[in-house]
Amino acid sequence: MKKILVTGGAGFIGSHLCEKLLNEGNEVLALDNFFTGSKNNIVHLMDNSYFELIRHDITMPFMAEVDEIYNLACPASPIHYQYNAIKTVKTSVLGAINMLGLAKRTGAKIFQASTSEVYGDPKIHPQPETYWGNVNTIGIRSCYDEGKRVAETLFVDYHRQNKVRIKIARIFNTYGPNMHPNDGRVVSNFIVQSLQNEDITIYGNGEQTRSFQYIDDLISGITSLMNNTDEDFIGPVNIGNPGEFTILELAQKVIELTNSKSKIIFMPLPEDDPLQRKPDITLAKKELKWEPKIDLEVGLLKTIAYFDKLLISKK
Ligand code: NAD
Ligand code: UDP
Repeated sequence: MKKILVTGGAGFIGSHLCEKLLNEGNEVLALDNFFTGSKNNIVHLMDNSYFELIRHDITMPFMAEVDEIYNLACPASPIHYQYNAIKTVKTSVLGAINMLGLAKRTGAKIFQASTSEVYGDPKIHPQPETYWGNVNTIGIRSCYDEGKRVAETLFVDYHRQNKVRIKIARIFNTYGPNMHPNDGRVVSNFIVQSLQNEDITIYGNGEQTRSFQYIDDLISGITSLMNNTDEDFIGPVNIGNPGEFTILELAQKVIELTNSKSKIIFMPLPEDDPLQRKPDITLAKKELKWEPKIDLEVGLLKTIAYFDKLLISKK
């Protein structure tokens, strides 16, 4: 039985990861400051004696004896990471330093949840890990993009200098149950709007693209990376679904699947919103023998069922 620390354990991805690690017979410690996460996501795990939830902010040091660390703590939705931009940088940078320090002292292997945002508004399409990206250092997304870029640098430097065992995944847009209904990201927004027959808010003309990955595929990708025994394979490795859709196509698909009466409305495109995004997953296929299995329609139907139940219970 491994003792595994999950920062951001009460968030969307963290809650699914804690559940999987517990199901595999590990002891799990979830750290969260509940900025965007919620106890509701993990309440079903509380009866398990091998699960511990600790209210803690990773910008402060944390001490525990652990075998592995998954560093997921950081708001991921643009409206949330822009709410307190300085805090977002602190979470990415000080949080990484604190967790890497813990890994160094305990000898734990540590995983970093990096992001496709390190590619910025990419000029190369699809994006391979070798692409250095096109990121504005002073825009409204920079607190997140640059924070995550420095975190990658810190991880690799702790590995080079202190031999800390690291694994870095660049996660592409992921969706599924346990997203907050007011999370602000596109899939949850469109589903919640459609289920309530409210206007669907497309920012810009809807021609920008994203590649959407269902949560179960992501969890299998990041655990395959962490459990990969080749200590020299540290990443960064893209974990995403290469299926690429325009935001307008996504809106139409959600309206169709929910049988909604919603109208599409167009609103201003936020500053620095990337025009296109699609992972090149050649590396993950080769090194991890991993690729996503869940099509957009199948994943959307599961997510719609989740939000439908949630909205009914709220009424
Ligand atoms: P989320 O907002 O649902 O979860 C983040 C969790 O971290 C929340 O529970 C929040 O309360 C917690 N948190 C935030 N700041 C903290 C701090 N200073 N100390 C302790 N806890 C803190 O987001 P998510 O989608 O689950 O994302 C998890 C991780 O994956 C993030 O690091 C994010 O950057 C990365 N990621 C996610 C996506 C995606 O599409 N979901 C894509 C790329 C990268
Ligand atoms: N978006 C949109 N309507 C919404 C929320 C988002 O049109 O209600 C757009 C957003 O401008 C972006 C895309 O959908 O082009 C994905 O946005 P999200 O916030 O989910 O993720 P990110 O931009 O970080 O990939």
